[in-house]
Amino acid sequence: MDSIHETNPLSAKQLSGKVALVTGGNRGIGKAIALRLAGLGADVAICGRDNSTIRDAANELAALGVRVHSQAADVTRASDVSTLVQQSEAVLGPISILVNNAGIGLFGPVHEKSETEWDALLDTNLKSVFLVSRAVIPGMIQRKSGDIINISSLAGKNTFAGGGIYCASKWALQGLSGCMAEDLRAMGIRVSTVCPGSVFTEFSGRGGKDPSKVLAADDVAHAVAMIATQGQQSFLSEVHLRPVSKP
Ligand code: NDP
Repeated sequence: MDSIHETNPLSAKQLSGKVALVTGGNRGIGKAIALRLAGLGADVAICGRDNSTIRDAANELAALGVRVHSQAADVTRASDVSTLVQQSEAVLGPISILVNNAGIGLFGPVHEKSETEWDALLDTNLKSVFLVSRAVIPGMIQRKSGDIINISSLAGKNTFAGGGIYCASKWALQGLSGCMAEDLRAMGIRVSTVCPGSVFTEFSGRGGKDPSKVLAADDVAHAVAMIATQGQQSFLSEVHLRPVSKP
């Protein structure tokens, strides 16, 4: 008997035959998610804008023995998104798990921010979810199944000084995700959000975090894997993820 697989379902190849697209899968949380899904047997497509980290991440994924598609794509641009989804599906087959992860952070009082910064943040953290989901959903509807997992934030549930534009993007993402979930639920498609607190990555150039007091990218990947491997009749709609220690 394969005792590890019997006792720990998350270590089995439970996602064999599935195809996952992870935006921003070239580094940080997205890369940890892509590696975790690949470790569970899923074929994985990733994108980002930086070719060198895309190439490195694709090599790490391929070493896990799954099929991989990687390409540079800016998820704020509809034309890039359309090519990304078409090429990912041409290489790997229909996308069954979409992880909308790509995001940026810009912090500071709203009155000090420019219109350009507002547009960049809202386009990356919110519009991209609309664009990528819109490209993937018709196929999921045809197949009557799919998981869309949006990486939101506890900043989508709370407010804090200097968080104006970022919180606006994540609160809006919460609303968008909830409505999409209701639109698609009856068609066998689940739309979930994962809301992490502070995670140890290069996000928004923030340094100086004590890794023992914040989450690791892999903690977020674990939550995504839980959602992607739940029973067909179950709908884990929102996960709030906090470090045990207070930062
Ligand atoms: P990183 O800065 O480490 O990674 C961001 C990722 O998004 C990179 O892969 C980046 O790739 C990609 N990306 C950004 N803009 C675009 C774009 N226009 N098109 C394509 N890809 C893009 O951040 P994290 O990994 O920490 O963050 C990932 C997600 O997690 C974000 O949505 C963030 O809001 C959320 N989050 C993060 C927390 C944290 O404390 N770190 C806490 C809670 C939520 P490239 O630069 O190559 O384009």
